[in-house]
Amino acid sequence: MAEKFDLIVIGGGPGGYVAAIRAAQLGLRTACIDPFTGKDGKPAPGGTCLNVGCIPSKALLDSSKHYHHLQNDYGAHGISVKDAAMDVTTMIARKDGIVKKLTGGVSQLFKGNKVAYFHGKGRLLAGKLVELTPSDGGEVQQLEAGQIILASGSVPIQIPNVEFDGEYIVDNVGALDFDAVPASLGVIGAGVVGLELGSVWKRLGSEVILLEALPDFLTMADKDVSKLAAREFKKQGLDIRLGTLVKGAVVNKDKVTVTLEDGEGESQLSFDRLLVSVGRKPYTEGLLDEGCGVQLNERGQIQVDDQSRSTAPGVWAIGDCVRGPMLAHKASEEGIAVAELIAGKPAHIHFDTVPWVVYTEPEIAWVGKTEQELQDAGIDYKAGSFPFAANGRALAGGNPAGLVKMLADAETDEILGVHILGANASELISECVVAMEFQGSSEDLARIVHAHPTLSEAVHEAALHVDKRAIHRGN
Ligand code: FAD
Ligand code: AMP
Repeated sequence: MAEKFDLIVIGGGPGGYVAAIRAAQLGLRTACIDPFTGKDGKPAPGGTCLNVGCIPSKALLDSSKHYHHLQNDYGAHGISVKDAAMDVTTMIARKDGIVKKLTGGVSQLFKGNKVAYFHGKGRLLAGKLVELTPSDGGEVQQLEAGQIILASGSVPIQIPNVEFDGEYIVDNVGALDFDAVPASLGVIGAGVVGLELGSVWKRLGSEVILLEALPDFLTMADKDVSKLAAREFKKQGLDIRLGTLVKGAVVNKDKVTVTLEDGEGESQLSFDRLLVSVGRKPYTEGLLDEGCGVQLNERGQIQVDDQSRSTAPGVWAIGDCVRGPMLAHKASEEGIAVAELIAGKPAHIHFDTVPWVVYTEPEIAWVGKTEQELQDAGIDYKAGSFPFAANGRALAGGNPAGLVKMLADAETDEILGVHILGANASELISECVVAMEFQGSSEDLARIVHAHPTLSEAVHEAALHVDKRAIHRGN
């Protein structure tokens, strides 16, 4: 007889584990199935985000930032250090420790909330039955539930003629685990993952070249921000080659030779390691049994409506395996909303106010519409901006690069988008998200007291500048 639950969540990433915890809080008898196994061989719920995504990348970005500052910036503070050295093994072990702490934390949260956690793979059968294949080789069993949430996440896209081998040609998993700094690193794709992981190894001494097929840089960001960011990255020695399509790669004698095509025709480049970061695709392999009633769309995503209902009654899908941005916080908020809908509560997500962050230095963060999107949509807007070079705290902290740019409706003054390039942009954007969620105006932000001296004063000044009354810059 199949064990019965009110809800089974398949996938324990930030979408699935958060949905499971919220459902349990709401009194649903909940199970969560996830096969992720940590480096120590133990179950490691938390999905891509905790194991091989958001968290480990930020751990390495922080380690490499300290090393880079020690080498390049401490002199200005009068601090000199002789014989600074980087021990990659220690850095990776620190990262692994953080991952273990957090995945262990999810296991504890499951226990604390009485979520039944199964370490294995789930397959949705017809009639809201789930076939569970335990990771430890135990007997395959069936579970049954009134409702099911699919949260199977995503995997890296592979491009033709560039085969991952886990050593020379790697995805995010490999690039988070190099055992030494590669003398040269090729990165295919100058998107978020390529920029973050390229920055890590560049700061540690690698010669990094990013090969990007598109003619423009970071096209989803506001143009003013992406232009300024490209300039900053160039200063740091990140070699970003736009309009460069990678057509193949081969490994030969400890080197990866990449064939590429750019404005000059076809040519080759050799690297010690190659990171392929050309985006991710929804992962549904082995997830859906024929006849389960769940359909995929033309992009391979699980087809869902605005509230995450799939085409099969009682089956929902969230996170990277469905439409919308592939971001951990989007997955989690969808998980919470679906758990609440299942429990009979109202729930809604505003996709328009999901913030985006790139954790480079300076950081890039935005929410809402870009200036180009407003122009394309024919919306009348006012723009204000403020450079961090005129912000006292930014100068005191040695972070003069970047700006805050705010866009507001020309008539109503409602904030339509905020774009930040600068130190702590990831934190500064939250205030703007809150303002937009409350349909705030630039005047609202302009009239709020911001502590001095803080980087957030740049947000305040950008808001003032929308009305051409900034204090610390010309209007
Ligand atoms: P996942 O985290 O992918 O989790 C899905 C889980 O489901 C996995 O554990 C998988 O093994 C499991 N699963 C799959 N099939 C089955 C099955 N049949 N049965 C049971 N379990 C199954 N996002 C951010 O917001 N901020 C960041 O800073 C950020 N940094 C990133 C850095 C890198 C290097 C990468 C690769 C991604 C990053 N992301 C970041 C994206 C973020 O990781 C994803 O958006 C997020 O993990 C999606 O959550 P999810 O729950 O939908 O899927
Ligand atoms: P993201 O989805 O943010 O990780 O970005 C992935 C980037 O990879 C996009 O900017 C794509 O244009 C780029 N890309 C995809 N295929 C190739 C390729 N064959 N060569 C170079 N860049 C590519």
